[in-house]
Amino acid sequence: MTAKSLFEKVWQDHVVVPETDDTPAVLYIDLHLIHEVTTPQAFNVLRERGIRVRRPDLTLATMDHSTPTVPVTSLKDLDVVAEGSAARQIRQMIENCREFGIELHGFDRDTRGIVHVIGPELGATQPGKTIVCGDSHSSTHGAFGALAFGIGSTEVGHVLATQCLLQRRPRTLAVNINGQLAAGVTAKDIILALIAKIGVDGGTGHVIEYRGSTVAALDMEQRMTICNMSIEAGARAGMMAPDETTVEYLRGRPMAPQGADWDAAVKRWLALPSDPGASFDREVSLDASALEPMITFGTNPGMAIPVTAAIPERYSGPSFRKAMEYMQVEAGKPMLGKPVDLVFIGSCTNSRITDLRQVASVLRGRKVADNVKMLIVPGSQAIKQQAESEGLDEVFRAAGADWRESGCSMCLGMNGDTVPAGQLCVSTSNRNFEGRQGIGARTVLASPLTAAAAAVSGSIADPRTLETRQ
Ligand code: SF4
Repeated sequence: MTAKSLFEKVWQDHVVVPETDDTPAVLYIDLHLIHEVTTPQAFNVLRERGIRVRRPDLTLATMDHSTPTVPVTSLKDLDVVAEGSAARQIRQMIENCREFGIELHGFDRDTRGIVHVIGPELGATQPGKTIVCGDSHSSTHGAFGALAFGIGSTEVGHVLATQCLLQRRPRTLAVNINGQLAAGVTAKDIILALIAKIGVDGGTGHVIEYRGSTVAALDMEQRMTICNMSIEAGARAGMMAPDETTVEYLRGRPMAPQGADWDAAVKRWLALPSDPGASFDREVSLDASALEPMITFGTNPGMAIPVTAAIPERYSGPSFRKAMEYMQVEAGKPMLGKPVDLVFIGSCTNSRITDLRQVASVLRGRKVADNVKMLIVPGSQAIKQQAESEGLDEVFRAAGADWRESGCSMCLGMNGDTVPAGQLCVSTSNRNFEGRQGIGARTVLASPLTAAAAAVSGSIADPRTLETRQ
């Protein structure tokens, strides 16, 4: 029998009609995650054509991109706290879910949160599933051994109507990550170092399988951070083999299988890892033991360096110079010590409870520097509650940080949480493109530890120089 990779197993399990030279494969979708931004057009098309949603029970809806991060107790609040277009999107989402019979994790639910945070949290994300969402960072769910990728608005309509999607089979890239991480180095540093190594197009056309001793030792939240940013290396998706860590994370979650179904599911899940000898189109290796905390200096996530290093002079060309000018940085000089205006802790990359605990370990007993505004936005209302039950909110407030309701917030600034033009923001999110956090905003991507170190130092700092306090 031919050895198969994790990707091949999941792909083959879901092909309804194989691809030909002329037509893509028809792929069955197990879980469709939807939110208020990429769905209005799709629902309008369904309405105009009199089509119902094929599987409302396999469609999980939340509101995250445009939602205010200040409390909303009634929809009337939206007119006060949300931008006009954001409030319209939110109202339309509520109406669309009601009309098409889709359960919405909305303002009245403590299960609301960022779409890529609540899927795993509810146990809807499971190994072996195909999962799609109208958001690029859908690759997050690959941390469970699911094949998960972002789709466009038109495809959202296709999945709503048919629960299937036309797809060309991607190639495969194995990323072998081995070695023990040093203190102060986290999953975010691994993925930034990888993208710096292979480039923002290093994974184009591929599904990445992350594997090796480092990956096996990571908890699920760190695994999600890595898979989340697969798209920043150009990859279609990122996957990791399900193992006991995956199983323990999912055990008892509301949408995970129960009883005898659980036992059968676990057996299926643990048979998914790539077979010994499975082949990949390409392989890349990364020595995790040599990594340091990373930060970005330019306008894509591949422009990343160890926090103590100088910006490399090996690049040239107009796009590099444009990025340097936009970021107001110079080749040959370090980012370390550069004054910071804002620190954003949040996004589907780094807003989970372990991220918040790390931030608290730096902020505890310290103050956010006078020149810095710090915004901490949990990934979901459940994480917010968990953080508050641990007293983390008190640590954040005592340090002078702003503690908010869940949502995408300053990851992309659609809800009004933006970085003013020219200001430098150290962000735990996933994209540092020009204007991503607001027109003229300058974004530096980093781990929660490095971002928190910048907040208390007032400038870009090495988190290893600050003692953490539990
Ligand atoms: S946090 Fe950012 S990347 Fe994640 S779902 Fe929201 S907008 Fe998309």
